[in-house]
Formats: sequence, structure tokens, C-alpha cells
Amino acid sequence: MLLDLSKQELDAYVKALGFPAFRGKQIFDAMMQAKNLEEATSIPKEVKEKIATDYPHFEIAKKLVSRDGTTKFLIKLGDGEMVECVLMKYSYGSTICVSSQVGCRMGCKFCASTINGLVRNLTAGEILGQVLLVNRENGGTSKKRAVTNIVLMGMGEPLDNYDEVTKFLRLVSSKDGLNLSQRNITLSTCGLVPKIYKLADDGFSVTLTVSLHASSDEKRKQIMPIANAYSIKEILKACKYYFDKTGRRLSFEFTLIEGENDSLEEADRLAELVKGLPCHINVIPLNKVQERDYKGVNIKKAYAFVERLNQKGVAATKRRTMGDDIAGACGQLRSQMQKEKA
Ligand code: SAH
Repeated sequence: MLLDLSKQELDAYVKALGFPAFRGKQIFDAMMQAKNLEEATSIPKEVKEKIATDYPHFEIAKKLVSRDGTTKFLIKLGDGEMVECVLMKYSYGSTICVSSQVGCRMGCKFCASTINGLVRNLTAGEILGQVLLVNRENGGTSKKRAVTNIVLMGMGEPLDNYDEVTKFLRLVSSKDGLNLSQRNITLSTCGLVPKIYKLADDGFSVTLTVSLHASSDEKRKQIMPIANAYSIKEILKACKYYFDKTGRRLSFEFTLIEGENDSLEEADRLAELVKGLPCHINVIPLNKVQERDYKGVNIKKAYAFVERLNQKGVAATKRRTMGDDIAGACGQLRSQMQKEKA
């Protein structure tokens, strides 16, 4: 698929087909504007015919706008699989939350994305395609972006699809493309320790956020199977390494589940764990997932948890819940559409 290629690779592809080099630029420009092949009027018919199967075939299958302006997009990929992404508008710009896999194999007990397991990895171009489509939908171009920040926090575990995700990071931050700085990109992981080291060693400098959700390994194992592979201690050591290499402040996600990890003692242990690490903790009450028994906590409890962390000298805030009137938690829009199709 042509969106998987860098500008240089695309130029080589065009050359191999026997077309002049400027055709490469035309194809590249059309893709950056998220045009489908019919809309790309500068590309002549004989070129279109040759590239038709390789040209990206994505579309926005459904769009839901929330009261607060947050928009959820369901994107249909070339093979008919669906992924969702979300655009959140802030005073400083717009952040898109993109998916990195169709489904997920991490098995976190409270998450909707993993219910049917992993269907397949997304390619770099399919991740980029989400950004380009939503940028276009919001009136942006590659020069004047409507999307200013990216979080890899949608469906899937980005570090479980390391090669395509890092290729995406290179493409989206490339000068030829959207030229979006890695400083404006956040990657969220459930804690695949060796891949955190690799990300640092490979020279990436995105903001790293780790989904912690528990302050002890026993508790973490109950809600996140990945905790059987890596301890919290190992995760924090890898995070420290990432900070030392990149100088980027770390962040941790802490989803509050009623009766599981919401006590003030939990906050105290968490504060103890991250002491001395340059980090910020995002506290978020669990969004109810229909198929799961876990419940979120009320706002008051979430604020009490945040306050306790602050008292202990830890930077923490309650994450704003956005778009909760349109589709609840991560992954739910996709399963909703699957039900509609069935
Ligand atoms: N696999 C990556 C990124 C995807 S999930 C990761 O684990 O970080 C993005 C965030 O949403 C994670 O912090 C995840 O734990 C959290 N999350 C999953 N299900 C949720 C739910 N029902 N309510 C609130 N947050 C949830």
C-alpha cells in the first residue's frame, strides 16, 4: 500500500513502473490530502490504472460528534476491517487518538478492545491514514494542519506492533509529510519492557505513557495479564532509562476501578513507587464496558485520589472525560458497528 512508503520509496516505485518522477509527487500530494483515486484529478487515467490496487482505500464509515466537540470516527480499511479514532479539541490545538491494531491480544480485563483478541496489526500507512482522513475532515492540509497532536491510545498495543508503529512515527514526522514533531506525539503502552528500551535505543523521542493501573504486582496481575511477564519494578527501570535517553518527562495512566485500585492506600503506594521519577500521573475513572463487570469510581473519589498523590509531591491530574455521551470507552464504537452489521 502506497501510504506505507516514504517519499523516496514512492519515487522508486513510480520509476519502476516507468512513469516520470513528477508522478510520484502527484501521488504523494493526493495521499497527503487524503483524496481517493477518483478525486485525484491531476493523476492521468493510465497511471491510476497501474496504481489502483496499491493506492490507499480507506474511508470514514461513521462519524459521531459529542456535545463537547469530541468526534469519534470509524474508519473502514482496505480489507473491510474497522478501526476507530477520536479527535479531541483543546484550546492549544486538536489531538487525535489513533488505533495501532485491529483488536488487541494483551487481555486487560477492563478494556473493550481486547474482547475478541487480536485480528491483525495495522500497517504504518493505515495508522497514518487515520491522521490524514481526520485532518482533511477538519479542513486541514499538510501545510496547515488541523490535527496538531497525536496519541497512540486507541485500539491495540502499539509496542506489540513495533515495526509498523515506529515506521509510522518516521513517516508522520518526516519533512516531506505532515512534519509533525515527535514532541507532539504520545505513545501509550501496557508495559512491554524490552520494547521500551528498544524505542529509546532506536532514537525516538515521543512522550511515553505507561498504563500502570495498580501499585502492586499481585493486583496488577489480576487486571492485566502482561503483569505476569514484567514486574512494576522492571517497568519503572525501563521508564527511567527512556527518560535518561530522551529527556522526556514520563507519564502514567491510572484507571480507577471501584473496589480494585481506588483506595487512598493505593495512592500512597503509587506515590512511593514513582518517587524521584520525573513524571505525571493521569487519573481516569474507568469507563463502563458492557461486557465487563468492573465499575468506575465517582468524580469525588477520583479527586480524592489525585489530591492524595499531590499531597505526596506527585504531579497528578484527573483526566477530562471527553465524548462520553457518544460511545463510552475505547473500542466500543467498533463492537457497536459490528452488532449493527450482524
Ligand atoms: N495498549 C495501550 C494503549 C491503548 S489503551 C495501553 O495499554 O496503554 C489506552 C488507555 O485506555 C490505557 O491506559 C488503557 O488502560 C485505558 N483503558 C482501557 N479500557 C478503559 C476503560 N474501560 N476505561 C478507562 N480507561 C480504559
